[in-house]
Amino acid sequence: MDKPQLMFENVPTNQEQPPFKPLLLTKPHASAPLVTAPVALDEDSQSQYAAYLSIFSCHGLEHKHISLRTKRQKALRPNPITRYPHPYQLEIEQYRYPTSVHTVADPIPYHPFDTTTAIFVDTEELLEEMIAELKQAKEIAVDLEHHDQRSYIGLVSLMQISTRDQDWIVDTLKPWRRKLQALNAVFADPSIVKVLHGAYMDIMWLQRDLGLYMVGLFDTHYACRALGYVKGSLAFLLKKFANVDAQKQYQMADWRVRPLPQELFDYARSDTHYLLYIFDCMRNELIQRSNPSAPDHEGDKLWDVLQKSSETALQRYEHPVYDPELGQGSSGWYKMLSRTPAIYNKEQFSVFRAVHQWRDGVGREQDDSVHYVMPNHQIFSIAREMPTNRAALLGMAQPTTQAVRLHADELVSIIIRAKDAGKDGPEVMAILDKVEPRSATAVAKQDASSRSVAPYVQKPTAAVPTNGLMGPPALPLRIPTSAFWGDAFESSVHAPDQQKSLSTAFAPLELSVPLPALTAEVFADPADVEIYMPVREKPATPQTNGTPTQTTDNDDVFVLKDLGKKRKRATRDNADAQPDGVAAQNDEVAIDGGAEQAIAKAERKKAKKEARRAEKLAAQGAVASSDGVELAEVDGGAEEPFDYANAPSILNPPREDRKQMRERKKKEVNPYAKSLDTPKGLPRVQMERAGRTMTYK
Ligand code: AMP
Ligand code: MN
Ligand code: ZN
Repeated sequence: MDKPQLMFENVPTNQEQPPFKPLLLTKPHASAPLVTAPVALDEDSQSQYAAYLSIFSCHGLEHKHISLRTKRQKALRPNPITRYPHPYQLEIEQYRYPTSVHTVADPIPYHPFDTTTAIFVDTEELLEEMIAELKQAKEIAVDLEHHDQRSYIGLVSLMQISTRDQDWIVDTLKPWRRKLQALNAVFADPSIVKVLHGAYMDIMWLQRDLGLYMVGLFDTHYACRALGYVKGSLAFLLKKFANVDAQKQYQMADWRVRPLPQELFDYARSDTHYLLYIFDCMRNELIQRSNPSAPDHEGDKLWDVLQKSSETALQRYEHPVYDPELGQGSSGWYKMLSRTPAIYNKEQFSVFRAVHQWRDGVGREQDDSVHYVMPNHQIFSIAREMPTNRAALLGMAQPTTQAVRLHADELVSIIIRAKDAGKDGPEVMAILDKVEPRSATAVAKQDASSRSVAPYVQKPTAAVPTNGLMGPPALPLRIPTSAFWGDAFESSVHAPDQQKSLSTAFAPLELSVPLPALTAEVFADPADVEIYMPVREKPATPQTNGTPTQTTDNDDVFVLKDLGKKRKRATRDNADAQPDGVAAQNDEVAIDGGAEQAIAKAERKKAKKEARRAEKLAAQGAVASSDGVELAEVDGGAEEPFDYANAPSILNPPREDRKQMRERKKKEVNPYAKSLDTPKGLPRVQMERAGRTMTYK
């Protein structure tokens, strides 16, 4: 297949440096004019921004792999002087959701799926027609499909939009795709609510590729969490509210294919077709289970959802930066190495980094994902064996990718040079320690913070795969809470006393957030983990009178500006009974369903036990001290990211006709199910932010 991006009016170069300049040329529904030149950051913000960029360089922000950083390392990075503000920051911060969002009303039924269809929008005329119709809507549902194999930064490949009466599927791979920013007339219109499920990545992708921003976002994933549903996936909601079984197997399809096969067309449409009805139901439940007049929005589930949705809409994209020295960022070498600590000597370590950097360069150059250029496991083997001739290299880089074949000689000389340079280079542990000191203090700190997020304590590292060279690290490399992000990336819903909302955390910085790497765990369903949360029994629905809650008083309407205020919650009542954090986490968790309740109960027991263990551990090692340690890691799992570079293609499987395929599909297990299967429960920390695409079907 020809790469569609080669036909784009703006062909990606993958060479841009921060700051990312927003793509939009005009700003409809503006309260403040569009800022078209970068603005200076004050000195303090500058150094924080510099530190931030160095931490989240490469494929950017790793919510889940935030590394310990010392002040010394922070000083290593030059300070960028300017950045562009989020074009709709003011509008989003001052936003008030329409009264309809605060009002219980009968859910509006969706049209039957089988007797309706979507309009495929692949011309500018159709785009205009669609926009005209969208402008009439009070709320719309939006979703994207994305391709990231044969592209370095990724491609928004499809956009699905539904009103109450019509579905559209927009082709976002047209050369004129940037003209889709005309959709800001709708997306930034404060009177039209945009309903998305797991919008985090969509928000990033929209601004990265199309210059689109959303004012008035409602994210149903946050509604799942606020309402304590056992799952946070769209598939779960589709089943619960529309009794629809989502066709998960298409999620990872090659969405660049044109013409779009019928199955993909239908699958894509089903992602938004039912969503407004689901929104109606969830909005009602949120209102009915909230008390809008409680002080400080205590227990106001709807408010929580609107707050988090707005924070999501405020995220900013940044260009990926490669950090050869410390390997930071989700696509940096550091993460790969620290997750599966290899016992490399200096030469091997040097080769590891050199090959890793080579891969990033080739990915950028030929505009392919780094995994397409060379899967991770090959970097490990090459570093271990340090092949010094072509035949040896090709022998261990199996299956050999085209990039490796084409660049084999170059790669061999890079390996030889790196091996040589490595003799005088640093030891693995020296660098790992530099980034993330595993001193007694760090461990003590870890134990102390484990307490606050118990029971999500460090899993034993024994699960680290051993291949002769790998071995469990002497001490845990990670600590589960970030001192930099606080709880912003994990239990903000559930740990109000530690809550640092994103906007608060970022207030002085107004940082943009580059994309995390798209690994399976990013998309995993947090429910698998959430179920480990202790559940505090409490009456299900406080509202009994059944009368619609009418909130017309504007003062009660959500305004993001208020978010800075400290929130106290009445969740401390049972705090004594449980370790810190556990009580705080459980206040919103309710389980619906009998069997699920039983599971939850068992898990609850387990969780409590683990929490007690964690506390004991913490007590043992609690020698509090810190020497410039500013960031903490919130990683955990030893799970390898799902390597979809090497996964079989769902579309166009080799020599099999579509009918055969369909027959087989019927019987077959979803080949990607494994990627969603998180047997031990991924650390929930990973889920909440990075996992926000919450696509999970
Ligand atoms: P969705 O919101 O479920 O339609 O997903 C949007 C896009 O996210 C898909 O087109 C995929 O590119 C990507 N995606 C979803 N789930 C996964 C996953 N488990 N692993 C990698 N990418 C995924
Ligand atoms: Mn989605
Ligand atoms: Zn989708």
